[in-house]
Amino acid sequence: MTLPRFPSVYLTDEHEALRNSAAAFVDREIRPHADEYETAGEFPRELYRTAGDAGFLGVRYQERWGGSGLDFLSTCVLCEELVKGDSVGTAVGLLAQSEFALSALADEANDELKETWLAPAIRGELIGAIGVSEPGAGSDVASMTTRAHRDGSDYVISGQKTYITNGTRADFITLAVRTGGPGPRGISLVVFPTDTKGFQVGRRLDKLGARASDTGELFFDECRIPASNLVGDEGRGMHYILSHFGGERLVIAAFAVGIMERLIELGIEHAHERHAFGSSLLGFQTWRHRFAEMATRLEATRALTYQAARLLSDGDPSGDMAVSMAKLHAAAAVQSVAAEVLQLHGGYGQIEESPIPRYYRDVAGFSIGAGTSEIMREIISRSLVQTVQKKKETR
Ligand SMILES: Cc1cc2nc3c(=O)[nH]c(=O)nc-3n(C[C@H](O)[C@H](O)[C@H](O)COP(=O)(O)OP(=O)(O)OC[C@H]3O[C@@H](n4cnc5c(N)ncnc54)[C@H](O)[C@@H]3O)c2cc1C
Repeated sequence: MTLPRFPSVYLTDEHEALRNSAAAFVDREIRPHADEYETAGEFPRELYRTAGDAGFLGVRYQERWGGSGLDFLSTCVLCEELVKGDSVGTAVGLLAQSEFALSALADEANDELKETWLAPAIRGELIGAIGVSEPGAGSDVASMTTRAHRDGSDYVISGQKTYITNGTRADFITLAVRTGGPGPRGISLVVFPTDTKGFQVGRRLDKLGARASDTGELFFDECRIPASNLVGDEGRGMHYILSHFGGERLVIAAFAVGIMERLIELGIEHAHERHAFGSSLLGFQTWRHRFAEMATRLEATRALTYQAARLLSDGDPSGDMAVSMAKLHAAAAVQSVAAEVLQLHGGYGQIEESPIPRYYRDVAGFSIGAGTSEIMREIISRSLVQTVQKKKETR
């Protein structure tokens, strides 16, 4: 079954065409292989190429570099569909490339870097990762210590990154390094080719959910890269990271929308078929009401997410607050829906031959990756306080 959707005030025929082509891609390339990818702990490298050929790795980027020149709502629609293939990890791996690793390059890098790294990555010929988090610096990005010192026409990089999606097989990393003193103004972004001498992938981290995406520890020992691999201006890295976090957070919120839709559909089918005490589960008011709650959470999340996508596309200053609200709400909503649908399935909800336990695990990290829910509350509350202060000042 397919859940009914309200007519959208945000989506156009172009978005719906993208949705149909993403759904067909999922039916063909992801769902039939989901078990295999999840067990292997990665999906085949060729899938980046197939996704690139389908135009899914550069929806928002300029046509000049092979992108489709669309908006953040297109990213939302794509994410919603990709995640319905019962392998959230596969969607995470593809989006970690197209949105997380590439967005700062698309907006801030010079044409030479775009030609060398962005365009082939949009085609799916290269795999990219974003390298920001470190063992001692997660939420507190500005305390990162991986250092790049200038030596002639090179940067020499030493340090460590962790939890890096696509990290064990990336061809390049959009890497945050410290080129200056302590604090946010000492951080820069560089494109780091992973065939650089002194670079090593450490442990491949075994994790709770999104198991088809690889997550790695990375080590840099006196790695020499050309200084021309600097993205934008030196010392502006933290600004670039913060201004592109919006896209990452939107991806997680849109994933949540797609997963809720899939779980509610699976749930209604099960509740219709499963009988107890002479009635289908759908015959019990408690379950009908719980579906009503779940559908309401889904639509509230969708509305917040599309609104945030529109504001981000428009470059509206309230975009950051809106996307933080969307992600905060989405993570809690999808976790509650996953728990409800697991409960509805009874014992079968815990058996790995159904996708339910997998989705339950996959969404646990939605309140952590791309900024935790505590950090989302921090951003929202800061924006609220600033707005109130500004109003007081203008009185
Ligand atoms: C599967 C996975 C994939 C990831 N992929 C990538 C990637 O590709 N690239 C990358 O750079 N990073 C990646 N990350 C890292 C991710 O961004 C961080 O895990 C996240 O930002 C949280 O950082 P942390 O794990 O160090 O937790 P910490 O920052 O140590 O936080 C621990 C707890 O303290 C809370 N906390 C921290 N500060 C505050 C505060 N000011 N007020 C209240 N509470 C606070 C947090 O909310 C959290 O609950 C990934 C992580 C995971 C798990």
